[in-house]
Amino acid sequence: MARLTDPVTILKGVGAARAKQFAVLNIFTLEDLICHFPRGYEDRNQLVTIRQLQPGVSACFRAMVANTPRTAHIRKGLDMTKVQVADTTGRLNLTFFNAKYAAEQLQYGKEYFFYGAVNGDYAGYDMTNPVFEAVDAPPAVTRRILPVYPLTAGLSNAVMGKTIRQALELCPVPQEIIPEEIRRKYDILPAERAYTAIHEPQTMQEAESAKRRLIFEEFFVFSAGLSLMRAARAEVSCEIYRDTELSAFYEALPFQLTGAQTKVIGQILADFQKGTPMNRLVQGDVGSGKTMVAAAAAFCAVRNGYQVGLMAPTEILAEQHFKSLERLLTPLGIRVGLLTGSMTPKNKALIRQQIAQGELDFIIGTHALVSDQTKFAKLGLVITDEQHRFGVGQRSALSAKGDAPHLLVMSATPIPRTLALLLYGDLDVSILDELPPGRQSVDSFLVGESYRPRINAFIRKQAEQGHQCYVVCPAVEQTDGMSLKAATEWAQTLQDVVFPDLKIALLHGQMKGAEKETVMASFARGEADVLVATTVIEVGVDVPNATLMVIEDADRFGLSQLHQLRGRVGRGSAKSYCILTTHNRNEQTIARLKALCKTTDGFAIAQEDLKLRGPGDFFGSRQSGLPAFRVASLGTDLQTLTTAQQASKDWIEAYGISDSPEASALRQRIGVLFDRCMGTMN
Ligand code: ADP
Ligand code: MG
Repeated sequence: MARLTDPVTILKGVGAARAKQFAVLNIFTLEDLICHFPRGYEDRNQLVTIRQLQPGVSACFRAMVANTPRTAHIRKGLDMTKVQVADTTGRLNLTFFNAKYAAEQLQYGKEYFFYGAVNGDYAGYDMTNPVFEAVDAPPAVTRRILPVYPLTAGLSNAVMGKTIRQALELCPVPQEIIPEEIRRKYDILPAERAYTAIHEPQTMQEAESAKRRLIFEEFFVFSAGLSLMRAARAEVSCEIYRDTELSAFYEALPFQLTGAQTKVIGQILADFQKGTPMNRLVQGDVGSGKTMVAAAAAFCAVRNGYQVGLMAPTEILAEQHFKSLERLLTPLGIRVGLLTGSMTPKNKALIRQQIAQGELDFIIGTHALVSDQTKFAKLGLVITDEQHRFGVGQRSALSAKGDAPHLLVMSATPIPRTLALLLYGDLDVSILDELPPGRQSVDSFLVGESYRPRINAFIRKQAEQGHQCYVVCPAVEQTDGMSLKAATEWAQTLQDVVFPDLKIALLHGQMKGAEKETVMASFARGEADVLVATTVIEVGVDVPNATLMVIEDADRFGLSQLHQLRGRVGRGSAKSYCILTTHNRNEQTIARLKALCKTTDGFAIAQEDLKLRGPGDFFGSRQSGLPAFRVASLGTDLQTLTTAQQASKDWIEAYGISDSPEASALRQRIGVLFDRCMGTMN
């Protein structure tokens, strides 16, 4: 017997070269092989007669070779073998190219099983390169359900299948971690059967059940892992913040907090009193005032002698937070610092030194904050802003910077429940369900290119009233064959041709950090009338004087992203507008953009977006933060997640997170899954 942890090279036919190919697919051990699941199946179980064969549809049939195969040499490197086969319903001509084996193996008068599709272009049907095997041979390529595997160059499906079967014969499948009563309750196959049947199903139904079991298993492990993290956290103790007096902070604010802000701050202060680290998500639509909630929490932590780290997803946002929070908090005696990747090495080193020596209280930055080089003197609270892309793993990396610090996650993307569970299942949730008073809803319109003169006139009108506009483009630079508006060229055109008398600024992600900051700061001071930008302004940017946002080729963006972008206007007291342009005539596309114009409910928009695009795209392709599941598809299996979550609760109720052998097997699997989640996030 081999072990799951043995390398693939112990298998017959797997040498160094093969092992390299497997490595491309992240397959190193027998377990990796056994867990390399098919992406689909070909049902070759059904036998048809020659007469029943349909053009273009692959099928299995049994037939006798009706003549001696003849091979003709067509040209160099091309041999053609022709043979006729027959059953009681008809005859069929087979053609093989460069198939010496066919010429050698197919014998006149003998019967074989074939699998292939007839070409349908002329009366006498004909089939090219079918696969076949003798009627007394064990079913390998015919009369079975053939798993279709994810492959890589040089590695054929047949080799993959054979190697996996070899592993299954040599080695026990991964240990059962779902107890029988839970399997029975949720109608789940045992591990032994599932791992075998997923690779060698007897029926399509069995393949389905096996897949369901394995999806369930992944979600079960994941949910149990989250529960474990919660339980573990409850055991960690931290100092209680004695001082929760925030009146100095409240008095420094230029406005009164909303009821929702006050409520959420109250929840945070309560967390600070518990003696265990807080893990809280604050969800609030764009403009609901999350930053002030973060500031209140930071103020409290600093008053209690701790440092606070606030991590933002972009430098622009980090810098903006730094400026506004520094202005607010410095007079209150809090030393605020900024750390971003684009700072000079010298400045970074200086700031890091101040962080390490406790000379800064509140450090705002990008992920430079969590790099190994950043060491905190006494980190008590970690805040991440707009970080719906950060997963479980990254949050724990962040927390590891301190001695069990409190964690506050702020997100403007209202996340559908199931998905929230994947990303935030380990967090308590607060909702900011109230906008500061005086906010106006942003009027939104969807228009075609024919409206260009009116859009331009509207931009001019806003500028004449002393207001500013954003113009968002889907690309930075024009590329061949793309008709998308590109920020660089469009900014030039607006400046040179359309608005020579206005000041047009340009901002995109490929610019240097310092350059971006200069542009943004100057726009915030009102020095430009129009800011042409890419989605770098998607999150957080706050210029209350901006009253119009034009989003070019709006169909290129996700709905939630459009909603975020739109949140950049309507932040002041003046009426604000959002204009979406599109060339797209697809009915569905138009319908969803129109729907966005009609609603300002971020939750409804997120739901719609998720339905349309699936969770991967929902968060953008980079750094989704979603766990890396092997079988489970986040697009289609979210229902199973809810069931598995219930099952993991049942499990923990029945077994506890004790030191039982059951628990340790599960713990180990949790470790593996969470490690893999971490791996996908950097
Ligand atoms: P978001 O939740 O999108 O991060 P911000 O924290 O950026 O929102 O707040 C948006 C704007 O509203 C900022 O200009 C902020 O100063 C202002 N703001 C926050 N809270 C209030 C309040 N209670 N009353 C008035 N304005 C507020
Ligand atoms: Mg914000």
